Amino acid sequence: MSGLVIFYASDFTQYTQLKVFNHENVRYGCSKCKKTYQQKKTLGRHLRFDCGQKPAFTCQLCAKQFKHGYILLKHMRNTHDIFIQKLRQRGPKIVSTVTVSSGSSTTIQVKEEDNDD
Ligand SMILES: [Zn+2]
Ligand SMILES: [Zn+2]
Repeated sequence: MSGLVIFYASDFTQYTQLKVFNHENVRYGCSKCKKTYQQKKTLGRHLRFDCGQKPAFTCQLCAKQFKHGYILLKHMRNTHDIFIQKLRQRGPKIVSTVTVSSGSSTTIQVKEEDNDD
């Protein structure tokens, strides 16, 4: 009987030479937040895009926080029924104008998302 083996590493490159033959009992863990994944590539995505990323986008209506700007925009559309029009400006910032469904309007600044896909 062998237990579950979890490899912890803080950087994805630490896994690249790792060869695992018995995949059933192996999981790949993030040493920073202790999340574990069954597949190396999933962990790799976590390390590159997910882990340590502080939520940078706050919904100003319900104070919920999001890591990505496009998720915030989606949240506002789905949850608050708010249509958001992106106005691309010069410089690193996008200023989004928001019209609240009640009729009042407010302006929300949304920083440009680097890995927006
Ligand atoms: Zn992590
Ligand atoms: Zn909200």
